[in-house]
Amino acid sequence: MHFIKNYRILTKQPGGWFKPIHVPFTRMSLSRSFHGSNFVNSLSVKDGLPMRLLLLGSPGSGKGTQSSRIQKKFNIPVISSGDILRQNIARGTKIGEIAAKEIERGAYVPDDIMIELITKELQNKQQNWLLDGFPRTINQAVALDDRLAMTDRSLNLIINLSVPEEVILQRIMDRWVHVPSGRVYNLSYNPPKINGIDDITGEQLTKRSDDNPETFKIRLQKHKALTELLLEYYAKRNILVTFCGRTSDEIYPQIERELLKRFGSGNLG
Ligand code: AMP
Repeated sequence: MHFIKNYRILTKQPGGWFKPIHVPFTRMSLSRSFHGSNFVNSLSVKDGLPMRLLLLGSPGSGKGTQSSRIQKKFNIPVISSGDILRQNIARGTKIGEIAAKEIERGAYVPDDIMIELITKELQNKQQNWLLDGFPRTINQAVALDDRLAMTDRSLNLIINLSVPEEVILQRIMDRWVHVPSGRVYNLSYNPPKINGIDDITGEQLTKRSDDNPETFKIRLQKHKALTELLLEYYAKRNILVTFCGRTSDEIYPQIERELLKRFGSGNLG
């Protein structure tokens, strides 16, 4: 468990004690996005349909794992609302200040802030992208549709992850993250090489403030109610596909097959 105070992140280290960490921030780490994707974009316009994807799933259903696999395989930027908020918290921005309070009590960040934040992020992206964690409410979904329709870039596939609740609960307890990059580790099936340390940068990993049983239960209940509404909203559009399984390894090949079927191999890196 850990909590956020005065923009410093206090983390429970694998050894036990709470310890403040300094989270370095660079502009390149703003989102878990692939930058400089002009080559990919021009390829996909010619050889395949642009990918405008949305990933839905309960907290802990493996959205982060699936999105980084899709990102690697198809070379597309991932726009993760949770990562962007955590990076704002680490930088101590005004949005980060609001987000920290909401996340800590298991609540959502207000719609107007989220819509502004994500549509701004989408402006910098071109043809292909994957949205993770946004939209989460019908208000956000409608606002997103409106903004995308204005530039003729509507969503063309919604990937819904369905994972049993007991599996999700265990995963949450074992999860550690590297905030600047959004890299996620899991002590049971994807541990870092050195406990508590990011494999790539050697920087410290942290627990998310909302990865504790109390906050998690609130998030899960709330998520269920709101996702039902979102699923209903998108089901009418015939671009919603649900993938079921207990592990990300079981689910990912199904997603990859579906993406290749719908978008061809024009997006492959
Ligand atoms: P995530 O990493 O996607 O699980 O997001 C972590 C937390 O950030 C959520 O529990 C919310 O408090 C907040 N958050 C992320 N995305 C949104 C969103 N689209 N709308 C409102 N709050 C969000």
